Amino acid sequence: MIIQKETSPAKYRSYSLHNFRSIPQLDSLSEELKFNMDVVGHVLPFKVNNYVIDELIDWNKVPDDPIFKLTFPQKAMLTRAHFNEMAKAMRQTRDKSALREVANKIRMQLNPHPAGQLELNVPQLEGTRLNGVQHKYDQTVLFFPSQGQTCHAYCTFCFRWPQFVGMDDMKFAMKESEMLAQYVKQHPEVTDVLFTGGDPLIMKTRILQDYIEKLLDEKPSNLQTIRIGTKALGYWPYRFLTDDDADDLLQLFEKIVRSGINLAIMAHFNHPVELSTKAVQRAIRKIRATGAQIRTQSPVLNHINADPKIWAEMWRKQVNLNCIPYYMFVPRDTGAQHYFSVPLVECWDIFRNAYKQVSGICRTVRGPSMSATPGKVQVLGVTEIPVNGKFDKVLTLRFLQGRNPDWVGKPFFAKYNSEATWLNELNPAFGEKEFFFEKELEQIYKENISQEAFNPYE
Ligand SMILES: *Cc1c(COP(=O)(O)O)cnc(C)c1O
Ligand code: SF4
Repeated sequence: MIIQKETSPAKYRSYSLHNFRSIPQLDSLSEELKFNMDVVGHVLPFKVNNYVIDELIDWNKVPDDPIFKLTFPQKAMLTRAHFNEMAKAMRQTRDKSALREVANKIRMQLNPHPAGQLELNVPQLEGTRLNGVQHKYDQTVLFFPSQGQTCHAYCTFCFRWPQFVGMDDMKFAMKESEMLAQYVKQHPEVTDVLFTGGDPLIMKTRILQDYIEKLLDEKPSNLQTIRIGTKALGYWPYRFLTDDDADDLLQLFEKIVRSGINLAIMAHFNHPVELSTKAVQRAIRKIRATGAQIRTQSPVLNHINADPKIWAEMWRKQVNLNCIPYYMFVPRDTGAQHYFSVPLVECWDIFRNAYKQVSGICRTVRGPSMSATPGKVQVLGVTEIPVNGKFDKVLTLRFLQGRNPDWVGKPFFAKYNSEATWLNELNPAFGEKEFFFEKELEQIYKENISQEAFNPYE
């Protein structure tokens, strides 16, 4: 394969609350729109960069442009009451700590920690809690390197928003990769280590390399796959092209592959536009040339991609660019969920109507899937089942991943509900009192965390 030599390096410029008014493209927007961004950006994270602004957003379509809504705060992302509360405070004072207090009060009402993340999944090594590691499903350990807890831009839907606004102090982050390698060695069921964040590719290659080389040096015999979860292809493809250490990064990828470990770049793409630039296409070619795979995932997002045509186009483009469609998610019940959420039944409809338009090569994708407390739950579809001479409409669900691996793959049924947007809004079908996994889940909770935090279905 012939790969073009990269010539003029792209310079990364980042914009957030303190300097967004200097973005030239905003000059033509109304002051009201800018004030709205300012208000919402005081509560939810806001960061964007020159690639997103210059190459992804179509400014003729603003404010309806999907990438604009993906990265710039929108008024409707807060409820009217929360918006007015923040706006009022901003009109009354410029005092930072007073404004932060108002913002934090609102943030606490936005379910900052869905799915029992903080307490339930932190493993131990010889009695020490490994903050910065999460181990929920047998085969895969998540690793949050402490220098990788930000991103090249922020998605307005992101469930990790509390850490980006400084609420969480990066509770998940870890400096010690030594401990990670030991942990993997002691857990033979683990085959995958997934570097995640934030975005681990925000780190300099040198730092990422330190983490990865520890794993390669220790070479636990059970380790088969290293995954890197990243949005760099969507938000800053120059990370693989012209950044100072871009070539070093590609060499690191090659080194992982040469060591006999499968390297999977888990790329977030939310809209086909992100696959359309020369830069992203060159970056994908370069990554693939190292022997790494690229698997893709995204949630279904109202206002951005809630349309089967968009998903079919996205999957086709991904396959044409040599990427493997992997997951379609349902957005988490946190932050601006009311703005982005799509009822589960509609998510399924979007999935099905996109899936039926694409060839089997694209059908590696699974979804729509909720990452909930008991596991990853897929909505298989709506079915009518005859009960006592009449038809009962039910939702068929199954675990793609379960806190207990034995739950995986068993279909189960919920009462039809056209409005539910998350597992906790569903009830069992056929008059059952609870879903088959609930007793056991409660038991797992009892053994692991304090009762106050118990919420069986988030
Ligand atoms: C999604 C997820 C994984 C990875 O699951 P795969 O189905 O193997 O991609 C691992 N840990 C957690 C906590 C997850 O949410
Ligand atoms: S890139 Fe990923 S971690 Fe960063 S804001 Fe977007 S979804 Fe969240």
